[in-house]
Amino acid sequence: MSSLESLTALTREASALAGGLPMARLGPAESEVARQMQICNACRYCEGFCAVFPAMTRRLEFDAPDVHYLANLCHNCGACLHACQYAPPNAFAVNVPQAMARVRHQTYQTYAWPRAFGALYQRNGVVVAIALTLALAAFLAATLAARGTLWQTVEGGNFYAIFPHGILVGMFGPVFGFACLALVLGLHNFWRDVRPLSPSGGAAPIGAAAGAQAAHDAMSLTYLGGGHGEGCHESDDGATLWRRRFHHLTAYGFGLCFAATSVATLYHYGLGRIAPYPFLSLPVLLGTIGGIGLIIGPAGLFWLNLKRHPDHGDVSTRPMDRAFIALLGLCGASGMALLAARSGPAMPLTLAIHLGAVMAFFLTLPYGKFAHAPYRVAALLKFAVEKRMPSRLRLGSD
Ligand code: SF4
Ligand code: SF4
Repeated sequence: MSSLESLTALTREASALAGGLPMARLGPAESEVARQMQICNACRYCEGFCAVFPAMTRRLEFDAPDVHYLANLCHNCGACLHACQYAPPNAFAVNVPQAMARVRHQTYQTYAWPRAFGALYQRNGVVVAIALTLALAAFLAATLAARGTLWQTVEGGNFYAIFPHGILVGMFGPVFGFACLALVLGLHNFWRDVRPLSPSGGAAPIGAAAGAQAAHDAMSLTYLGGGHGEGCHESDDGATLWRRRFHHLTAYGFGLCFAATSVATLYHYGLGRIAPYPFLSLPVLLGTIGGIGLIIGPAGLFWLNLKRHPDHGDVSTRPMDRAFIALLGLCGASGMALLAARSGPAMPLTLAIHLGAVMAFFLTLPYGKFAHAPYRVAALLKFAVEKRMPSRLRLGSD
């Protein structure tokens, strides 16, 4: 019997002795995470790298909710793979970021709402490409129908002369509303499975300190620091902070663009001020800064994704990652192009492209890479709550 087979047999035996066979209830990808966590729990070399390892040490066995929680807690920084003495070609074949990434992708499908739409996570790159093609074609055709041309100067750069405000609200409102509903209900499904439990077995209370820590860790991307603060691994052993920086530009750029749209909505309905707004108005300033972030951030993330070593994460999810990053970048670039071209004849064309890109983004929002954001925040929240509770294992320093 090889050492790997011996280890697997010992793991199953230990699980059986502990009362039950939790690994038997897991699928292949989940069993692989559980197997690797059993090894890591004996080794613990990576304890200070990220939240996954302290969370792991609070468990002796790993059932499906534990595996789903840990998979979404992992930020795929690659540090534990590069530090691991049991990584391939060792017979133990420990590759935590890859095993976690496979389960993480499955959790998006498992908890998706409606459940049948979880299939859209598979071949997601194709789904995004189809959605973008259809949305672009629809807005280009609608612009042609409205103006008879895609190349025409519109007085005052008034895009409502092409698509009236009410029509835009009627098209984008329901799609965005459905996307938010699907994300919230998917997150609810996930949380119902993984929520932290108090020693009495009920739901553990979420205190302000835990909430603040989770918010801090999510907003600062603490665990993209690789444990030493020097960053993630991409193509080799070297650590770099560029993924964290590009991710910040993308996330905060997206947030500022969303804020720009919210302020513009307030202007429209609350103050009766109708777009287009001057370059130095609050919605345009927020949108401009956010748009620049949404160009530089996704471009950088795409570049890093192309460079990333195939052992980091799950290569089968790369079409999903790249499609999402590219679509975000197109939203940012087309928004900035529209701002620059709004007084000239290219306005109808750039407007159609921007609206098509944003519509494709909203259509695919709950069934693509964006799902990692709410699931990871939920995992960070569970970690922050759990670490404030006594360990149930009551071992050593516990
Ligand atoms: S990843 Fe490797 S080195 Fe790190 S704790 Fe697990 S077995 Fe140990
Ligand atoms: S890849 Fe990074 S975040 Fe994921 S478990 Fe390893 S050290 Fe933690």
